[in-house]
Amino acid sequence: MTALIRPLTEQITLIDLQFQGRVEVIAAYLIYDGDTAALVETGPASTADTLLEGVQAAGVPLEALRQIFVTHIHLDHSGAAGVLAGRLPWTTVYVHPVGAPHLSDPSKLLVSAARIYGDKMETLWGRIAPVPAERIVTLNDGDAVAIPGSTLRALATPGHAKHHHTFFDERSALLFTGDVAGVRLPGVKYVRPPTPPPELDLEEWRASIAKLRAVDASGVCPTHFGLFRGNLAWHWNDLEQRLVTWGELTRAALARGEGAVEILARLKAQAADEFRALKADPSSYDVAVSYESLVAGYVRYWSKKNSG
Ligand SMILES: [Zn+2]
Repeated sequence: MTALIRPLTEQITLIDLQFQGRVEVIAAYLIYDGDTAALVETGPASTADTLLEGVQAAGVPLEALRQIFVTHIHLDHSGAAGVLAGRLPWTTVYVHPVGAPHLSDPSKLLVSAARIYGDKMETLWGRIAPVPAERIVTLNDGDAVAIPGSTLRALATPGHAKHHHTFFDERSALLFTGDVAGVRLPGVKYVRPPTPPPELDLEEWRASIAKLRAVDASGVCPTHFGLFRGNLAWHWNDLEQRLVTWGELTRAALARGEGAVEILARLKAQAADEFRALKADPSSYDVAVSYESLVAGYVRYWSKKNSG
């Protein structure tokens, strides 16, 4: 059994939200200087209680938590923002300007997610609450915010979603990458690109990878999951190579007239081959990103490209 919390640096603690009873799938990152605290990512509303337990287990009184940063407004990253804003009325939520309206009124977001997750919505993500608009601060590319003991800089990194920020912590030189650095789980040397609809854009994503490669970072912290230091070039290469390969696989299948069901089977087979080669178990990767969302994202991307 892995612990609920894991110290990463003197000031930064990882909280394992134990999504769907699984360890090492969704993380939130807590930054604390002994006085006040900031959180990067909230996870879904379904794990809000675990998150708050983790904050307290890290020795942070709830009234010390003042700032909540979310990389983007997908439900596994910011789904608990409204619940937290309600329970901790002294907090401010920081988000990309395009994400902000969806935090204060999540109705469209929920309709869009329900297309993929159907009747599993509430089990997976919990009850989503709105964040009061006056509690939201929007950040643009390059904006810096003072956080406990450091400065956090927002870097616009579209591709996975248009409104995606990566946060660079100037003190630790760590990058909190949301989904733009892919999904990489502890113990497996493998980076999976999460490619959901509707905003997937391969060109933008590759430009964001190039932008992050150029940052002098000491490590990456994907929300799925943990801190990876050393040989970041390998990380970016593995992500980019798979983003392109899987994209090409879906493009070619569509060109042959295959539908979503056949493409899904193809992608699953491809991933199974990749994991067999690594002698690794893909099941936690499959919880972190569903094949349905991977395929739906690529299919929508290619059809938009072909029609425009
Ligand atoms: Zn996402």
